[in-house]
Amino acid sequence: MTQTPATEHVASYYAATATAGDARPSLSGEVNCDVCVVGAGFTGISSALHLAERGYKVVVLEAARVGFGASGRNGGQIVNSYSRDMDVIEDKYGLDTARALGDMAFEGNRIIRSRIKQYAIDCDLKDGNLFAACNAKQLEGLREHQALWQRYGNRELEMLEGEALKREVTSERYVGALVDHSGGHLHPLNLVLGQAAAFEALGGIIYEQSPLLELTHGEPARLRTPGGTLVAERVVLAGNAYLQGVIPELEGKSMPCGTQIVTTEPLGERGRALLPNDMAVEDCNYLLDYYRLTGDGRLLYGGGVSYGGQDPTSIEAVIRPKLLKTFPALADVKIDYAWSGNFLMTLNRLPQFGRLNANVYYAQGYSGHGVTCSHLAGRLIAEVIEGESERFDAFAGLPHLPFPGGRLLRVPLSALGAWYYATRDRLGV
Ligand SMILES: Cc1cc2nc3c(=O)[nH]c(=O)nc-3n(C[C@H](O)[C@H](O)[C@H](O)COP(=O)(O)OP(=O)(O)OC[C@H]3O[C@@H](n4cnc5c(N)ncnc54)[C@H](O)[C@@H]3O)c2cc1C
Repeated sequence: MTQTPATEHVASYYAATATAGDARPSLSGEVNCDVCVVGAGFTGISSALHLAERGYKVVVLEAARVGFGASGRNGGQIVNSYSRDMDVIEDKYGLDTARALGDMAFEGNRIIRSRIKQYAIDCDLKDGNLFAACNAKQLEGLREHQALWQRYGNRELEMLEGEALKREVTSERYVGALVDHSGGHLHPLNLVLGQAAAFEALGGIIYEQSPLLELTHGEPARLRTPGGTLVAERVVLAGNAYLQGVIPELEGKSMPCGTQIVTTEPLGERGRALLPNDMAVEDCNYLLDYYRLTGDGRLLYGGGVSYGGQDPTSIEAVIRPKLLKTFPALADVKIDYAWSGNFLMTLNRLPQFGRLNANVYYAQGYSGHGVTCSHLAGRLIAEVIEGESERFDAFAGLPHLPFPGGRLLRVPLSALGAWYYATRDRLGV
């Protein structure tokens, strides 16, 4: 039996506390535009907003609702740089590439903060995120990480151990941590909804419940949805893990992966005791846990990866044991929300930017750390459409390979690899 695709936000804490809920119409008939953006997540809406600010007539096609995908469901952690860090980029792709990407490693974060300020977006922005080491080897890795980021210009880093660590996170699981004071956390659905509203205020149009069914390349390109056709001079594909079955060229070198989040009931003082300075935390394990307090004082806790993007039968059964391992005192706490979302993983964990044609661009595959990079992608897409291609091409030039095992075996092989690395984490080697 084929499943009908979902078309409304998942029942998450974010959807329950969204600042704007009005549905938008779907596309009907034939509409012309300068640029059609497919997908209304961070990548799509960031691109659309940057382009609208530059005077382009932009139309966004969204299969479901603005922020339906990972952008409206994620951990909300503003993590700087990329999923594979600058040392790996230096080793694998050379110093020139590393310098080009390193110059942009902290820009997505700055874009988010300037958007929030410029458009007065209410999304519970808080400063500071913390990478927590579960063993001595991870702590050593964090020291190297600090030196690396400092070399690329981030001076807002601080190593914490002992009492200083306890002042930030009162879990016994960690031997130390690296704080990035320039990072932070926020309500991601409200961030994307706020930027969508800013885009519309500039004259941009968003059609919801309007999935792209077929792209006919050409100048202009034609994009068919169930109710109509968009005729566009340029196209931006920003469907990430949710754009499956329409553009096969984008699927060969990436894999959708699921991860799950729960949110407790509001914890008040108990919550503040866990994270006294309200920073976001992610640990350094291969299969990492990530958590933070929400604007109304709940613990939002995520973790786990399902390769291929299949949802577990019970999300709470997956995440509650992780939460209790970190904070055993929360055994009596009620879980109010539990949901899942898909991100797009690449083999080298670096984002995929590129062109399918002279006038069709894409950006995807942030491999689990996409809050900042998707915002950077939007700016770079606007630049390349205006003819400034250097920064976009620094990403587009990165080589990408298919996952070993092809579509059939990539999921079990990746799970096997993850089991190996998770075992090493457990053993601290
Ligand atoms: C549970 C979870 C937790 C995460 N936590 C963090 C975190 O804390 N920090 C961090 O940095 N990153 C995190 N990430 C990753 C981050 O959320 C993503 O990298 C980022 O949001 C990707 O944005 P996007 O716009 O590219 O994709 P998405 O937000 O997935 O948006 C794609 C959009 O395209 C639409 N679409 C798909 N197909 C079509 C079509 N045919 N026609 C029209 N529209 C279409 C979808 O409906 C969707 O709205 C997390 C991801 C998940 C799933």
